[in-house]
Amino acid sequence: MNRKTARLLTTILILIMILVLSLFLIAAFSEYLPFRNLSSLNDSLETAAPSETTVPSPQPGQTSEPTEEPAKNAQTSVHTPPYYPESPNRYTYAEDFYYERVSDQPELMERIRDLSFNESVNTKISYDALCYVRVLYVNFENVDCEGELICNAAIAQDLVEIFYELYQARYPIESIRLIDDFNADDDASMAANNTSAFNFRLTTGSTTYISDHSWGICVDLNPLYNPYVAVDETTGEQIVVPAEAAAYADRTAEFAYKIDEDDLAYQLFTQHGFTWGGHWESVKDYQHFQKEID
Ligand SMILES: [Zn+2]
Repeated sequence: MNRKTARLLTTILILIMILVLSLFLIAAFSEYLPFRNLSSLNDSLETAAPSETTVPSPQPGQTSEPTEEPAKNAQTSVHTPPYYPESPNRYTYAEDFYYERVSDQPELMERIRDLSFNESVNTKISYDALCYVRVLYVNFENVDCEGELICNAAIAQDLVEIFYELYQARYPIESIRLIDDFNADDDASMAANNTSAFNFRLTTGSTTYISDHSWGICVDLNPLYNPYVAVDETTGEQIVVPAEAAAYADRTAEFAYKIDEDDLAYQLFTQHGFTWGGHWESVKDYQHFQKEID
């Protein structure tokens, strides 16, 4: 080994020692190095977004039902009615509050034919005499919902105004769907606490009398909490319709969604010239508001 080679080897050895020392220093003081700080920052960003990291992913065999998220669950249960194209005669009272003739909406006519608009028994009222009313309302979970009603054209203006005021006051209504969504079955609609208006049918408890709902001049509001209550003349027993509403037949009791004279819906409907079934003599129909038309 000559001197030149020895110097070269010494230089290489020194470089290797410097390299090893550098690596040791990097390892020892890495907490203070910039890239370490960046990774800490990423860690803190991740922990600051719990919605991204704490939602458990569904395991095999588990259902993906969002049972731990009641608010989201309530959202998903909201029903949105179909939209119909705007007819030339649509009247808009306020954004999302409007009405138009049923006869202007072919798809809607098809939807209610042989259901609420049963042509085999209904020879009394035409599609042209009825209006489709679209409203917003606040459901029992305080969620904004879209609702639809069919009524006599003579009360359509009243209904958009009344339901607009109820919405502004965030008056809770569980459901506002066409009774056709319940196969035009009033019992099913009431049991579901659905608010509705037009339905060509017989009066509750009768096999001969045509209901005023057949003219589309009445609204049944939150019917489960505001039932029809009568007394059977032969047995003397109390009749409550829907049957599921027996707990709400006693109007002296305190419970939510009860319509009485202090209720905003009662006040709005009566201001618009409607009478209330809770004032009837022979039977009581606490859900029922009706307007006489010419
Ligand atoms: Zn009614």
